[in-house]
Amino acid sequence: MVESIAERITNIRSNLPESVRLIAVTKQVSVDTIRTAYAAGIRDFGENRVQEAEAKQAQLQDLPNITWHLIGHLQTNKAVKALKQFQWIHSVDSLKLAKRLNALSEEFSCSPNICLQVKILPDPNKYGWSMAELMSDLAELNQCQNLKIKGLMTIPPQGLDDLQTLSVFKKTQELAREISKKNLSNLKTQELSMGMSEDYNLAISAGATIVRLGRILFGERKNKETDILS
Ligand SMILES: *Cc1c(COP(=O)(O)O)cnc(C)c1O
Repeated sequence: MVESIAERITNIRSNLPESVRLIAVTKQVSVDTIRTAYAAGIRDFGENRVQEAEAKQAQLQDLPNITWHLIGHLQTNKAVKALKQFQWIHSVDSLKLAKRLNALSEEFSCSPNICLQVKILPDPNKYGWSMAELMSDLAELNQCQNLKIKGLMTIPPQGLDDLQTLSVFKKTQELAREISKKNLSNLKTQELSMGMSEDYNLAISAGATIVRLGRILFGERKNKETDILS
């Protein structure tokens, strides 16, 4: 039996704990399919490229109450667009980018929801803070008063087994706890954006509050090269 996209969405949502927010990742997914997901109840959509998202958002303006999440690496020269198009940015991966977004948010009177992207294991294919780097940037991040820093985002390196993947997620959870003990007024870590099609159940067992699912909802993507360079 081949499930339709609407059926897959319904099944997956019904198996997620209520506390877990599902983001449907629609990179390389057509506008028509996004409409199908919307009709099936999805209101959180994730895209990894500002430009690809812009084209789709323009065609979806009739759909109310969508929250757009940027989940891919953001170059500072696209930061203005990102702030206009996305309510959440999960892929804030450097102090420089955080400061830029903070300054622009002041200028445009907006207050984006932010996750700080961390690399628990060294990974040349990903952006993000190492644990040590993040700890040393906390004070300055806490000064970014226009950002609503909500939590941490992570993507495990490829090729790990389940135990190793679980360990990455648990370490992310521990890091979030460690940071919250510092009681920084503007830097909250209650959200854990982690878990994709292959590993979201592991992520949930380690406390994920937001999962970002693409292929398991929409099927395999054609273009894999640029896929997870986030
Ligand atoms: C593509 C992507 C996802 C979704 O991955 P799937 O394996 O298709 O579920 C989640 N997060 C990020 C950052 C991505 O780039």
